[in-house]
Amino acid sequence: MNSDNHYDAIVIGAGPAGLTAGIYLSRARLRTLILNEGTVGGQMILTHEIANYPGVENISGYQLSNIMKKQAKSFGCDIKSNISISGLELEGEVKRVTLGDDTVYTSDSIILSPGGRSRTLGVKGEDNLKGRGISYCATCDGDFFTGKEIVVVGGGNSALEEAVSLTKYAVKVTIVHQFDHFQAFEHAVQEAANNSRIHFIMESAITAFNGDEKLESVDIRHLKTGETTNFKTDGTFIFIGYVPNTEFLNGKIELNKWGEIVVKPDMSTNIEGVYAAGDSTAKRYRQVTTAVSDGTIAALAASGYINELRIKHKQLITA
Ligand SMILES: Cc1cc2nc3c(=O)[nH]c(=O)nc-3n(C[C@H](O)[C@H](O)[C@H](O)COP(=O)(O)OP(=O)(O)OC[C@H]3O[C@@H](n4cnc5c(N)ncnc54)[C@H](O)[C@@H]3O)c2cc1C
Repeated sequence: MNSDNHYDAIVIGAGPAGLTAGIYLSRARLRTLILNEGTVGGQMILTHEIANYPGVENISGYQLSNIMKKQAKSFGCDIKSNISISGLELEGEVKRVTLGDDTVYTSDSIILSPGGRSRTLGVKGEDNLKGRGISYCATCDGDFFTGKEIVVVGGGNSALEEAVSLTKYAVKVTIVHQFDHFQAFEHAVQEAANNSRIHFIMESAITAFNGDEKLESVDIRHLKTGETTNFKTDGTFIFIGYVPNTEFLNGKIELNKWGEIVVKPDMSTNIEGVYAAGDSTAKRYRQVTTAVSDGTIAALAASGYINELRIKHKQLITA
């Protein structure tokens, strides 16, 4: 328990949820380790501009990540990035995390904050132009398309509702959908149909995103005729679903049918001493602010749990 590899808390995932948890835990003088699969910052580093984080008028996602990371480290938090987790034991008082290189870390408590990813189309040009005309978040990026003409991809409730909300900014929104009907609720379809700024291209799919520095056009193929047309656009919003990064938790913790971690209001999970925060949890809204809020709550709840554990062990020793 006293070994260098034992921590009071281990946080899995260094997006805004995990970094916030790290800040709170280490500031409470709890020995804390954050383990992150990729580059520290999570989805924040995919966006060139965050303009809705209170107190900071405008900042790149990369900069905001670096500030959060610096803040966590300044309180003594250990952060290891570009790791892979090969084993995870969550049950029992001592939690155990094994890395791909066989290093083993143990802890009294775990906070899971692996975030998630928007489902992508997986077509040519998409990876290169992400954040440079291609977006997966209307709340985050809608304002950047004020006065522009954009495309929305999808046919469910998110796509239709977000298309309507984007007409506050864009002068023309063209919805591209693969079927001849929508999966969204009828009222959402009607609201979109009644909006003069919204246009529809049905039974069609985007087959390529074109542009060097930023998105300039998309190739749209009609799925019945096979005809492909080049369509000029300033931006494309893709709403075809969301995937939480919880594959590594299958069978280890309660997930709902979408793979999201089920949490109580204090961000505790069905396993004692294990908490979860951020986009990987079951919830409606996914933003930096909501992730930061979850991370705070999870860290405070985990701190309480660790203190109770210490009191319990002390009582056992003195008994
Ligand atoms: C393009 C884009 C633009 C956005 N713009 C904004 C915006 O302007 N404003 C706003 O508020 N929100 C914005 N968002 C949403 C916001 O970034 C997310 O809601 C937020 O980052 C979620 O934080 P998180 O900590 O829960 O997860 P994430 O940010 O997803 O971070 C999770 C971290 O966990 C790591 N991880 C995953 N699996 C494992 C594993 N098995 N082991 C270890 N580590 C793991 C990941 O590598 C990642 O670093 C945007 C999102 C995108 C994609």
